[in-house]
Amino acid sequence: MTDSNSTTTFETFESNVRGYCRSFPTVFKTSRGCWLVDEEGREYIDFFAGAGALNYGHNHPVLKDALLRYIQEDGITHALDMATSAKRAFIETFQKVILQPRDMQYKLQFPGPTGTNAVEAAMKLARKITGRSKMLSFTNAFHGMTLGSLSVTGNAFKRSGAGVDLTMALTMPFDGYFEDGTDTIEYMDRLLSDSGSGVDFPAAAIIETVQAEGGINVASAEWLRRLEQLCRRHDMLLIVDDIQVGCGRTGTFFSFEEIGLNPDIICLSKSLSGYGLPMALTLIRPEHDLWEPGEHNGTFRGNNPAFVTATAALNTFWKDGELAEETARKGELVREFLTDTVKRYPELHGTVRGRGLIQGIECAVDGLSAKICHAAFERGLIIETAGPESKVFKLLPALVIDDTLLRQGFDILRQSIEAVLESEGLTAESVPA
Ligand code: PLP
Repeated sequence: MTDSNSTTTFETFESNVRGYCRSFPTVFKTSRGCWLVDEEGREYIDFFAGAGALNYGHNHPVLKDALLRYIQEDGITHALDMATSAKRAFIETFQKVILQPRDMQYKLQFPGPTGTNAVEAAMKLARKITGRSKMLSFTNAFHGMTLGSLSVTGNAFKRSGAGVDLTMALTMPFDGYFEDGTDTIEYMDRLLSDSGSGVDFPAAAIIETVQAEGGINVASAEWLRRLEQLCRRHDMLLIVDDIQVGCGRTGTFFSFEEIGLNPDIICLSKSLSGYGLPMALTLIRPEHDLWEPGEHNGTFRGNNPAFVTATAALNTFWKDGELAEETARKGELVREFLTDTVKRYPELHGTVRGRGLIQGIECAVDGLSAKICHAAFERGLIIETAGPESKVFKLLPALVIDDTLLRQGFDILRQSIEAVLESEGLTAESVPA
């Protein structure tokens, strides 16, 4: 009952919960590098990169070779958390290529296959270490869809899907949340210092250095350093969720390297396997590794093919600083393009935001960003919105994209903006809704 080239099968049989396929209504068949191809042979430039899971592009040949060889040799596919050659190779490579050169000491916990598993494990451990239950989370944060992660996520629509009260978080204002410039670190410090504030003492603060899903909100280096000091002052742990903006998205492997943070726990996933295979990691400072054997387990913590591609990715991209430098350079190209775009089209009422290769424009005009993304799809570019009201269109190309393709994507985006502004009849004087 193949309904070739049509989305009918999905519409008929797949749950209503499906999401991205509505933004990109075609049936994709193959992919390579920064290109996706649908069943009709139409090609799309990918500025979405699997929501940050494909930093090295689709089906990177070096990673694919390593994977094919491993499968061909009957390498272990599934192994719970048993010791395997593939897992040892990953652990040793991660130590050698990532942690040791950065003088970072962390134990590795494989918490389950997806990002939210890494977040759940981190929060559970922080609670165990401190004996406190509350988590200090932030406005517009996004940490995943399981109940613990949802409780520290800001988005009201996603939260309401929980169907239960999400009571374990203490939501605080992110950097720049108040338009009047209120110093949100001072605000938190006041509440945490005042025994009359009614604020329960949290186990940890969980933070994204750049809130990706929340609308590309960038915390300043200074604010993040002060947040770490706040955590130390009030004896809270610091958890950095680097699931979307780690693995090189902002340039360096960890998004906080140049800022100089020393998180107690770090969550990684998305581009860790480098190939789009599910894999997650919770990094724990050795003194905090208070787990009892088997206290937190799960069937799919040993996705060995993912260990193989992850090892190949680290060896290919992270043995020197070239990818980080290139990402910073391409980030500048994106910045120039976006800055020029908001100047050229005042009708957008746009603000540029982001770091490295996660940048975008917030359009104050209601619904405009979604329309631009839709117009881009029709012209062969995959790009998504972010933020609670989807007001930001977000450029998230693979880090390995070449300049020509990047500029080709810029051109399509420009054409899409022009088409939408024309069809909407917007002028610079149009007041944002
Ligand atoms: N944390 C962050 C910062 C994310 O961006 C995401 C997903 O977008 C998650 C956690 C959840 O990851 P997953 O969807 O793999 O559970």
